[in-house]
Amino acid sequence: MSYVDEIYDRVVEQNPAQPEFHQAVKEVLESLRVVIEKNEEEFKRDALLERLTTPERQLLFRVPWVDDKGQVQVNNAYRVQFNSAIGPYKGGLRLHPSVNLGIIKFLGFEQVFKNSLTGLPIGGGKGGSDFDPKGKSDREVMAFCQSFMSELFKYIGADTDVPAGDIGTGAREIGFMYGQYKRLTGLYEGVLTGKGLSYGGSLARTEATGYGLLYMTEEMLKCNGVDIKGKTVAVSGSGNVAIYAIEKAIQLGAKPVTCSDSTGWVYDPEGIDVALLKEVKEVNRARLTEYAAKRKSAEYHDKAKEKNNQWIIKVDIALPCATQNELNLDDAKALVSNGVIAVCEGANMPTTLEATQYFQKNKVYFVPGKAANAGGVATSALEMSQNSERLSWTFEEVDSKLKNIMVNIFHNLDDAAKKYGMEGDYVAGANIAGFLKVADAMKAQGIV
Ligand code: NDP
Repeated sequence: MSYVDEIYDRVVEQNPAQPEFHQAVKEVLESLRVVIEKNEEEFKRDALLERLTTPERQLLFRVPWVDDKGQVQVNNAYRVQFNSAIGPYKGGLRLHPSVNLGIIKFLGFEQVFKNSLTGLPIGGGKGGSDFDPKGKSDREVMAFCQSFMSELFKYIGADTDVPAGDIGTGAREIGFMYGQYKRLTGLYEGVLTGKGLSYGGSLARTEATGYGLLYMTEEMLKCNGVDIKGKTVAVSGSGNVAIYAIEKAIQLGAKPVTCSDSTGWVYDPEGIDVALLKEVKEVNRARLTEYAAKRKSAEYHDKAKEKNNQWIIKVDIALPCATQNELNLDDAKALVSNGVIAVCEGANMPTTLEATQYFQKNKVYFVPGKAANAGGVATSALEMSQNSERLSWTFEEVDSKLKNIMVNIFHNLDDAAKKYGMEGDYVAGANIAGFLKVADAMKAQGIV
């Protein structure tokens, strides 16, 4: 049995009932096979893949808090510090009822490669809780965030582990967590990113993941002789990533026609009205039914009543920006039969392995999330730099650095794919380019 297969079996055996983690490891290992097999003995002697697939540290803790009725609630929380070979652990905190250790491990593992691809000195980590901020009062969210940070603060720091937002963790939650960290430690430092502008946040961080996704999509298409202008786009999700992906797509002359949330999706053939979408989601924290009610051209589709989702709409580009495994083989078949040219992942692992392979087999340009959504963490790293310097850069400065980073990431993964004889396979390119830097740093630092 090859070393790669041995490691995959080991991961499955040692991490039972964590299918998302197995899936993420499988995708990466398959891409690395060509690199590992060139030097298998050395990698094996150093147990490099065992170390790469085993987190350096996993923290599990309970979060007790009191709800508005005076009832004590208890949530499970996690922080997985996966790999610090190239810098302090960096990665978001997800607050969603689906969160469990396996989900956090898959996200942390992906983060290691993503952060390496940015070219910035940041290691990989991820955390979160099964707490659901949806439907909670501001006081309840604060109570949870303060209790969560009262445990987490022991393990994080500006030079050790710097968490950020993710699903369910936006500016409000980061603010409450930062306040509690400062109160407990007395330190005013860049320990969290995604902070508000009045207390150390970076301009353009809110927009960064969505904008970065479009900068990469534009560059990838350009390198393949395709102009993004005039293309129709299907977006899923209507959170932070989706909203700013839609905004930048419009600015680049494309036409996003769909968005979704967990209860339904919208098809707006005239193009999504991003100002209205922001009002509904960012200001009113409401459902997409409100968008459809206020916009004549929009059709609303209720997920409880219909089997179909936004991937049945005929578009040139698909940008899944909601959550993991939201685009399956049937969705991929529908998109391909409608002539989709490109799929770029805004969310983390939104496409199943079978769907990814189907796109690649059908010559659809496919860029994985660990490259395409790296703009968020890259700008978080820029926020860390500004915090260390005690300076704030302008929106234009941050945005232009973001664009450069995304263009560079694309060329790095394109070059890596070409170098290993897999031209156009951006999944392999991203995994290989991300891996080489981390592996090099791990080797240089000895057996730790
Ligand atoms: P948000 O919480 O802002 O938005 C998430 C969106 O996806 C919402 O519209 C939500 O709908 C929908 N959604 C979430 N879970 C599900 C589900 N199980 N089924 C259907 N819809 C769902 O999160 P973000 O936009 O920040 O994150 C989206 C994705 O992008 C995640 O995979 C995240 O890890 C990834 N990402 C985010 C980055 C960032 O900077 N924010 C950086 C890199 C990656 P509803 O409101 O109804 O729940």
